[in-house]
Amino acid sequence: MGEPEGPLDEPAVIWRYFAGRSRYRSDVIVGIGDDAAVTRAEAGWDLVTATDAIFEGIHYPPGIPAAAIGHRALAVNLSDLAAMGAEPLWCTLALSLPTADPRWLEGFANGFFALAERYGTALIGGDTVRGPQGASVTVQGRVRPGTQVLRSGAQPGHGVWVTGTFGDALAGRLPQDPAGSPVCTYLRDRFLFPEPRVQMGRSLTRRASAMLDVSDGLHVDLTRITAASGVGAELDASAVPLSSDLRALAGERALEYALTGGDDYELCFTVPAGQEADLPALASGCGVPVTRIGTIIAGTEVRWCRNGQAFPVPESSFRHF
Ligand code: ADP
Ligand code: MG
Repeated sequence: MGEPEGPLDEPAVIWRYFAGRSRYRSDVIVGIGDDAAVTRAEAGWDLVTATDAIFEGIHYPPGIPAAAIGHRALAVNLSDLAAMGAEPLWCTLALSLPTADPRWLEGFANGFFALAERYGTALIGGDTVRGPQGASVTVQGRVRPGTQVLRSGAQPGHGVWVTGTFGDALAGRLPQDPAGSPVCTYLRDRFLFPEPRVQMGRSLTRRASAMLDVSDGLHVDLTRITAASGVGAELDASAVPLSSDLRALAGERALEYALTGGDDYELCFTVPAGQEADLPALASGCGVPVTRIGTIIAGTEVRWCRNGQAFPVPESSFRHF
């Protein structure tokens, strides 16, 4: 493809890989290339902003494909916006690299822009610096005033729901499966290319009483909803959705993967009883399955049970890199 061999300087990186590939929306007045970006804020909306940084060796292991890093840098932020019920609009990217390797940059930009375009999010600026490999993305989105979904609105009697399946990403980041074979592509991709639940999050704005995206593990993240809301929860461990590939890989330990593994980027949310009936239909319109895994209760305890017996959450035996 006529790629130059040597490392590139900063303006070349910006213009070739980012400015040159950005697709703007009509609400972007000034994009990449000036001292700052200008975007049009419309009356009747509130802005929602999230920032997350990912660094090699801390948030992802060395050696994963550059496209996965570009995807993930944006995906974790879109997932945060989804968890607020917001529609993503614009993003900025602060990229830190030890060397500007054209092949790596091409892969990174491919992963980043494929996801940005899928959700109509415009890259409007950023910074490019020399340092350890990592990327910090800020995403801005919008909600109708008062419709953002916080972690703090769960009340006793509300159902606890989740999107998708859990534990896949943990299995997908293993160097190999417990039998010593390569981990299957489905699980590997669940780790490398997590899909932020943008449509589902947006459609829950007038429905969910509390919501977050699960990045650190289903159990731990659920306790963040209960703590913020001042409630407890009673959860059915056997209802936690598991993929057939995870069951095949982890067997008896699949549930342990699901409850304690991180990097799922699924949504966990609570819904008042009267509003649960058509949730599966709503979710299937968004292309994602949803499952009810329990009920919010009074108190502060988060209890798991299985077949009528208390199910102690296993201590997380998995270290993130
Ligand atoms: P300044 O010194 O004024 O910050 P820079 O040379 O850092 O200018 O950036 C020039 C332009 O390129 C700015 O519009 C900035 O937002 C944009 N930019 C720099 N790095 C990136 C990047 N990694 N992705 C997108 N835009 C970037
Ligand atoms: Mg700069």
